[in-house]
Amino acid sequence: MDTTSFTLRPRGLSFYLLVRNMPTMITRDDNSTAYPLETTWDRMKHVAALPPQKILLSTVVIGMLTAIWLASPFVILAILIGIGLQYIIEYCVHRFLYHMTPPDQVNDLFKWLYKSHWGHHDFPNNPNLWGGNGLLFVPIISAIFILIGWALMALFGSAHPLAYAVVGVYLGAIPTYITYEWAHVTAHAAGKKNWLERYITKEHAKHHFQDYNSNYHVNAGGIVVDRAFGTAFDRETYSRPDHIRTMGLAPDDARLVQLREMYASECNITELDRQKALS
Ligand SMILES: [Zn+2]
Ligand SMILES: [Zn+2]
Repeated sequence: MDTTSFTLRPRGLSFYLLVRNMPTMITRDDNSTAYPLETTWDRMKHVAALPPQKILLSTVVIGMLTAIWLASPFVILAILIGIGLQYIIEYCVHRFLYHMTPPDQVNDLFKWLYKSHWGHHDFPNNPNLWGGNGLLFVPIISAIFILIGWALMALFGSAHPLAYAVVGVYLGAIPTYITYEWAHVTAHAAGKKNWLERYITKEHAKHHFQDYNSNYHVNAGGIVVDRAFGTAFDRETYSRPDHIRTMGLAPDDARLVQLREMYASECNITELDRQKALS
């Protein structure tokens, strides 16, 4: 298995060579083994097996039935708005929530942050930390956005405001959220990858190992949102932050040591993993 760490390619290579040489997985700068999911299908099955995804898939069925009932071309517009909003939500949750300044003490917030994202940066090869808090989007955020969509469309005189809001969230935003989970699993799993999967891996590797203040997007095409917010990775101007794997904290920070131990059994963080993480 190739466990070569991600490295940037010099400018001037053709697009073909760039794609051909893209990394097939993300590893830490050590010998830890990346979790293998060999094919695109394996990675899709991995996402489909996550408990929250069964709820998400049922919402897609509700969205389809609602769209059939509406039988209107505006259904397409509602879906496109849902997709666009989810790209922005994906970015904002990652940048402003998961990467917020952590508390000084290990309190409930830091525990939640560690399980949701800090642990993932700490141990990017650990599949138990890939999904973070997968229930975040459903039902809380989707319910909020259905209500907002309902209110806005009622304000603009839509004939069926709730139905269009349901279609936008359940057929636009939630399928986009599922592709986000797939893209993230794809970025971290070891296996055979097509050009799109290699591209996703390459872009996400920059967030983990070059500059965690850039490339907050994970989904294909999300670079547009990073560019709009001014956080797209720029190889000419970036500077690699200190302690990149622990997002600026010292690797042996007492809070991190405590959190690693706290989640060791639930997330299968081995003693060896914890020892390596200290350096
Ligand atoms: Zn991150
Ligand atoms: Zn990641």
